[in-house]
Amino acid sequence: KIQELSELDKKYFLHPTTVPKAFIEEGPKIIFSEGNGIRVKDIKGDSYIDGVSMLWNVNLGYGQKELADAAHQQLSKLPYSSSFYGYSNEPAIRLAEKIVSLAPGKSSAVFYTSGGSESNETAFKLARYYWSLKGKSEKKIIISIKRSYHGATIATGSATGIEGFHNFSGSSGNDMIHAKGHLTNCELGDKTDPEYEGCIRDVIEKEGAHRIAAVILEPIQGAGGVHVSPDGYLQAVKKLCEENEVLFIADEVISGFGRTGKMFGVNHWEVEPDIICVAKGITSGYSQLGAVILSEELRETLVQTEQILGHGFTYSGHPTACAVGLKTIEIIERDNLVENAANMEKILKEGFVYLQDKHPHVAKTRAVGLLAGFDLQADRDNDVPFEQSIRAAKTVVEECFKRKLILRAADFEVGKNIVAVAPPLVINKQELEEVIGIIDDALTSFEKSLG
Ligand code: PLP
Repeated sequence: KIQELSELDKKYFLHPTTVPKAFIEEGPKIIFSEGNGIRVKDIKGDSYIDGVSMLWNVNLGYGQKELADAAHQQLSKLPYSSSFYGYSNEPAIRLAEKIVSLAPGKSSAVFYTSGGSESNETAFKLARYYWSLKGKSEKKIIISIKRSYHGATIATGSATGIEGFHNFSGSSGNDMIHAKGHLTNCELGDKTDPEYEGCIRDVIEKEGAHRIAAVILEPIQGAGGVHVSPDGYLQAVKKLCEENEVLFIADEVISGFGRTGKMFGVNHWEVEPDIICVAKGITSGYSQLGAVILSEELRETLVQTEQILGHGFTYSGHPTACAVGLKTIEIIERDNLVENAANMEKILKEGFVYLQDKHPHVAKTRAVGLLAGFDLQADRDNDVPFEQSIRAAKTVVEECFKRKLILRAADFEVGKNIVAVAPPLVINKQELEEVIGIIDDALTSFEKSLG
C-alpha cells in the first residue's frame, strides 16, 4: 500500500512549497494517517511528535473528539449555507460575536474567509475600500517588512518579505513596498540611525502618506524565522500610522488564539490594530477558516455606505467551519490553553538554556508562549554564520526527524539557519522535555558531522 500510494502521489499530486523534480524522484517523505495529542502516525505505524503543530495550526493537537463531533453535528444538520445576499447561519453569527469579544480594543465586526492568504488579501482590499469611502482613493500602497510571510496569492505573496516567494511567479505588485525589518529607532523618528533609509517611516515620507493605505506586520514573524518584534516597535509603528492616516494591519494568522501565551500576539505590547487577520489556530486546523477582524471605525464607515461590498468567498461564513471554530475557542478557554502556552514558555526557555550551554552552535534562542526558535551559527560569539554548504538548520531538522520529532527549518536567507519549535498548545512539561531531549541528541549528531 505504501508503494502504491507513493507512486500515485508522485504521478498525480503537485505539492505546495516542494521541488517537483526532487519529489518525483524521491516520493513523499511521510504519509500521515492518524494522530493523538501531540503525536501523529504515518501509514507504516511510526509515531512522531509534531513539534511545529504541522503548519503552526494544529494548536489543540490531534484526536480532539469534541471538534470531530461539532463538525459531524453541523454537517448532518446544515453542512453549508451561503452568507451572500443577506443569507446567514447560526454558527457564523455566534462565532463572529465570540471573536469580537476576544479581540483587543475596539474590534467590532468580522469578515470570514477560508484561510490566512484570503484574510490578508481581504484586509488589503478593505483598507483601500475604506480610504476610497473616505474620499482618499489615492491611498493604495501596502507596506510590509522584510522576512514577513503573508500568504500565497499574488497580492499577499507580493507583500511577503521573503524573497524566495517572489522568484516563483514574479509577485511584486506596484502598490506593495517592503520596508526594512524591525527597527525601533527609525520608526521613532531617529534619522541618524544608519539603517534609516528604507525603514517604514522613511518609506511613508518618501512615497507620501497620501498614497499609503496600510502597514501590515506579524507581531511575531513565523515563517521568516520566529522574529519577535522588539519592545516598543509595534507601538512606534502604530503611532506612526495614526499620525499619517495609515491603517495598521496585524497579521495574527499564526499568533492568534493563544499560540504566544496571550489570546493575540499584539496583547504582548498592548497595541490596537485597525484590522486583525486570523486563520490557522481559529479551528486548530480541523476545518478551513479565516477571519478579518475590523475596528469600530472601519465597520462604521463600511456600513454607512449604500454601495455593495463587492467582495466575498463561497465559503465565507461556512457553517461547519464556524461550528468547529466555536468549539475550538470553547476548548481553548475551558482547558486554559492560553495559560498553558505561557507556562510552557518557561519550560521551553529552560530547555533552550540547557541546549545553549551544551551545544556551541545554538544561538539567539527565543520563545513567546509556544512560538519559539533558535539560530545555528558557526561562531555565535562573533555572529558568524555557517557556510551555505553546511545547511545547519536543515541537517538538525533532519536529525530530529530521524528521531521522530517534526520541526521546521528557516534557511532561505543567506547566512541564516533557524530552527522553529511550535508544538500544540496542549503539550505538557514531560512532553516538552522529551522534545528538548531529542533536539539535544540531534545537535550532538550534527556536531559530530562537522568533524
Ligand atoms: N500569514 C501568516 C503569518 C502565515 O504564517 C500564513 C501561513 O503560513 C499566512 C498568512 C497564509 O495563510 P494560508 O496558508 O492559510 O493562506
